[in-house]
Amino acid sequence: MLTVETTKTWLSLFIEKLEMSEKYLNTLDESIGDGDHGANMLRGAQYLKAKLAEDTQSRSAELFRMAGMSFIQKTGGAAGLLYGQAFLHMSQSLQEGDDLLGILASGLEGVQKVGQA
Ligand SMILES: [Mg+2]
Repeated sequence: MLTVETTKTWLSLFIEKLEMSEKYLNTLDESIGDGDHGANMLRGAQYLKAKLAEDTQSRSAELFRMAGMSFIQKTGGAAGLLYGQAFLHMSQSLQEGDDLLGILASGLEGVQKVGQA
């Protein structure tokens, strides 16, 4: 069972990981792009962090939706869309009553669908 507390902890750990990895992700992006992947991901993560800090009522599915919209709106580009779709699909899957494995599989499906992978 995915509780609100577990969902918030999980999203917070994801945000922390992005905060710690900004420079590393920028460096990786320099080889193939314009070196801003870490900064872009951090922008979405920090927006989500602020939204989570002020939230007291959302259930897990709404938190996943909040995460999806944060990355779509604030990270932007291909990465924002891919992470956004993953979280939006996870939100939908949770609302349909799927278990944790189903939720994660649905997130992957979202990435594959939008990325045509
Ligand atoms: Mg870039």
